[in-house]
Amino acid sequence: MSSESVILVTGGSGLVGKAISWVIENDKSEQFGKKEGEKWIFLTSKDGDLRKLEDTKAIFEKYRPTHVIHLAALVGGLFKNMKYKLDFLRDNMLINDNVLFMAKEFGVKKVVSCLSTCIFPDKTSYPIDETMVHNGPPHESNFGYAHGKRMIDVYNRAYHDQFGCNFTSVIPTNIFGPHDNYNLEDSHVLPGLTHKCYLAKKEGKPFVVSGTGKPLRQFIYSRDLAKLFIWTLREYKEIDPIILSVGEEDEVSIKDVADAIVKAIDFKGDYSFDTSRADGQYKKTASNAKLRKYLPDFKFTPFDVAVKESVEWFVENYETCRK
Ligand code: NAP
Ligand code: GDP
Repeated sequence: MSSESVILVTGGSGLVGKAISWVIENDKSEQFGKKEGEKWIFLTSKDGDLRKLEDTKAIFEKYRPTHVIHLAALVGGLFKNMKYKLDFLRDNMLINDNVLFMAKEFGVKKVVSCLSTCIFPDKTSYPIDETMVHNGPPHESNFGYAHGKRMIDVYNRAYHDQFGCNFTSVIPTNIFGPHDNYNLEDSHVLPGLTHKCYLAKKEGKPFVVSGTGKPLRQFIYSRDLAKLFIWTLREYKEIDPIILSVGEEDEVSIKDVADAIVKAIDFKGDYSFDTSRADGQYKKTASNAKLRKYLPDFKFTPFDVAVKESVEWFVENYETCRK
């Protein structure tokens, strides 16, 4: 990256956008902190609806970015994905089409977009790696989101082959941290259960976890992911995606997640599983071998520490956080 850069972050007000902003402002290291000559712009949906081409064009005209981190998306946990399959497909297709097209039209030097391990084939061998994105249908619970997101990788290769664009993507696992979406029904498991456990303690009611608690997931703390995004923007040279994840050995069950939240909230009441509710995909164990080849020494925040920091943030910001 040259010293004079304008870095536009779409979805800058969300979980990941806020974490990138936090790292840029607070990390004093050469590797991840803000560099001289860099101007970072964090967008929200108030700056324009990226589903609309004219709004997207106006944003690119206004800021003339040299680099884009593209996070904006319709995002949600298992239960929201099951309810709004067409919205997840269509909104994300429109947003991605507009952002990548404008990035090409305005000569953006590099775009890093965001996929997810949810998009991998349901029937697969483990661990999953970056070569398997298009190897078969995704899990039926989130096929709208998955197909929409997969197309980013197709766009990136097409923009590269036809126009020489340097557009790439990252594949994070389940993300959590400050500024998450804590809605009780539509959020991801960690913020959703944090809110439920907090209310159970406050109201003296049972803490009920959806599903069996048996599914396995890899979780990444948003501030660790933010560092890896910044590294990808500055250093990663491939068009092909890269999985940004903790190791396979750090996979945990949903019950482990609930236990960590119970501990962080110091909840002492009744705690049970509602097995009438969906479990979703049993596991999506991803390999971080490619990441480790590039960054063998990167240190992830231990899961318990990250859960504690996130729960503390939620409790302190209960009145104003997204829920
Ligand atoms: P988030 O907290 O829900 O934030 C979404 C962001 O996108 C917000 O800034 C929102 O703006 C913006 N946005 C949504 N629709 C928009 C539209 N039509 N026009 C303009 N902006 C729009 O999401 P996140 O969890 O940070 O997710 C960031 C990226 O990571 C997404 O691409 C997501 O698919 C991916 N990802 C997330 C997870 C996870 O566990 N959360 C896991 C894997 C991958 P407002 O705040 O103004 O509404
Ligand atoms: P996923 O990782 O893409 O499947 O998305 P989620 O973050 O929504 O995690 C879903 C897993 O957590 C499923 O096994 C759910 O049954 C389980 N789960 C347990 N309680 C909750 C909850 O309150 N919200 C959500 N979203 N999932 C829950």
